[in-house]
Amino acid sequence: MKIEGKCHRCQRTFLLSQIGPDSDAPGRCPFCGARFARHYSTVLVDAVEDAEDSAVRFVNTIARLQSMETGFDIDIDGLLAAVSEQVREQEAAARAV
Ligand SMILES: [Zn+2]
Repeated sequence: MKIEGKCHRCQRTFLLSQIGPDSDAPGRCPFCGARFARHYSTVLVDAVEDAEDSAVRFVNTIARLQSMETGFDIDIDGLLAAVSEQVREQEAAARAV
């Protein structure tokens, strides 16, 4: 699943996959060239891949449950709200450092 980011320097939106190893400038903003995750540049590309793959796995895992005629409904809204809340908590914690 493609994840978008917004560059702190130029404020433009890009796909995280655009900063991967196959890009013209891995680990850099495709628009202004800002270097991302300066202290983590060696693991950034892997982390992007992991995040995108995990998002796909998450959706597929829920889809597997949905396809089982379980006799119950999954609280999708509650699930997505909980995921959103936890991701935003992590974002807030990261910005506080
Ligand atoms: Zn930029």
